Amino acid sequence: MQTLASFVCGRWHEGAGDQQPLHDPTTEAQIGQCSSSGIDFAAAVRHAREVGGPALRALDFAARGAALKALSAAVHGIRDELIELSGRNGGSTRGDAKFDIDGATGTLAAYAALGDQLGKEMGAGRHLPDGDGVQLGRSPRFGGQHMWVSRPGVAVHVNAFNFPAWGMGEKMACALLAGVPVIEKAGTPSALVAWRMAKAIADAGILPPGAFQFVAGGAGDLLDHLRPMDCLAFTGSSRTGLVLKGHPNLLEHNVRVNLEADSLNAAVVGPDVEVGSDTFGLFLTNVVTDMTQKAGQKCTAVRRIFVPRPRVDDVVAALVERLGAIKVGDPAAADTRMGPLASARQLADVRAGIGRLLEHGKAACGGPDKVFDRGYFVAPSLVVMDRPDVEVVHAEEVFGPCASVLPYDDADVERLIELVNLGRGGLVVSLYSNDREFTERVAFGIAPWHGRLWLGSDRVADQALAPGMVLPQTIHGGPGRAGGGEELGGLRGLQLYMQRIAVQGFHGTVSKSFGRPQGATSGA
Ligand code: NAP
Repeated sequence: MQTLASFVCGRWHEGAGDQQPLHDPTTEAQIGQCSSSGIDFAAAVRHAREVGGPALRALDFAARGAALKALSAAVHGIRDELIELSGRNGGSTRGDAKFDIDGATGTLAAYAALGDQLGKEMGAGRHLPDGDGVQLGRSPRFGGQHMWVSRPGVAVHVNAFNFPAWGMGEKMACALLAGVPVIEKAGTPSALVAWRMAKAIADAGILPPGAFQFVAGGAGDLLDHLRPMDCLAFTGSSRTGLVLKGHPNLLEHNVRVNLEADSLNAAVVGPDVEVGSDTFGLFLTNVVTDMTQKAGQKCTAVRRIFVPRPRVDDVVAALVERLGAIKVGDPAAADTRMGPLASARQLADVRAGIGRLLEHGKAACGGPDKVFDRGYFVAPSLVVMDRPDVEVVHAEEVFGPCASVLPYDDADVERLIELVNLGRGGLVVSLYSNDREFTERVAFGIAPWHGRLWLGSDRVADQALAPGMVLPQTIHGGPGRAGGGEELGGLRGLQLYMQRIAVQGFHGTVSKSFGRPQGATSGA
């Protein structure tokens, strides 16, 4: 059995007190344990601020980018091992594991490329000009310029269990490129992958001392030590998010907090979409992928499927046929398409959640029962509602292979918009239609409530990336229950870790020292 250690203050630390167990969700056997007890979190925060931060900020953007590239390669170097651990500790199929691990290395590499580009534009400069200079005085001599500078604090990253590699990789890529050291806390149930990745990062010796620390186990009193230049980026349930957002110390010191929480993502089938069309095929593929990839334990997975009432039977039949072909079982078997849920708690929560949906609708397939005697398995479950406004569908995230079909009246687009927005803020909506007027109307109606709109049509059916994919180029996050946070989006992802300020003074000084160098195109 593996005991996971934490990497703090440059040393590996095995917790002293009660260990938290880690399981193989396929067999339910305990395969590991971890504990963060005994960690001096005040010292860890100081180590990051006093040792890691200055060393990172001594590197220019190009050097930080080069470090990210090397980190990406170091993690890629243990890819096969991580895939195996992801199956054993997370119940991931090989495809699920690659989605997580390649997502991490891909995002690190994308920010490495941004660092390289910034290095070429900014040279030795370590700030990011924001927009163009403005004239403030009666002549151009007195002007102003906005810019972003690195904050001399630490970034604490609290990650969810479902993406142990990607969650850590995407957060640290942005912070490190911004010149801010990180303390990564893994979600405990699946911490084996994050721990192995942390070992590879620490062993590689790529980052300056203090730039990277890793916590396996609980967060202890870590958040009590954060101060105004620090930040917390959290990914997890809105329930935990609420607790962290209201943390008295974070409130007292106005510590920046970015929340990525849960989301009742919607897919909308437009009234014009014919069964058998390319757009319909795209919709089926995406919904089935979302429901079954990582056993539906994806923050971006579709939970609410809006279908014009006359099409409901066709859509349900097509989805049930595809879901029926998904082989559920041991994630290590080559023909398995969906593994178990990640933990016993997940199994209990998902079974209860499906049960609550079924109080209001009918199961077209699946249901709350366990699939096998052993392991945390449930079947892909599609629940068909008779009414589109059933409260529980819009209020409760069932974080597993489960979605509800909701019929809508295709003559009432305004009502459709209201229904989609009933999720009270989400990460992504996928909208399937070749009708530009319908697409525009719905898109503008739901845009303020969602972080990302994904438009599927015949024109992109052969090349669109799935809506469940979070890409480094575009932002991830959403308002309301999705947490109100924002990550990634190219250089926008650095803003959490940097301070935007305005500089005012003599135009020559302001523009030369703080503005965009001649020929630079990036900015923040
Ligand atoms: P969770 O139970 O809220 O836990 C998330 C993280 O918070 C874990 O690392 C957990 O540590 C930690 N945590 C819990 N209580 C804490 C406290 N009082 N102080 C400090 N840290 C604390 O969520 P989860 O079950 O891991 O993840 C599933 C949820 O995450 C789903 O709701 C999903 O929608 C959401 N999610 C959202 C996104 C997004 O980007 N929006 C991405 C992935 C997942 P322990 O594990 O040690 O308890």
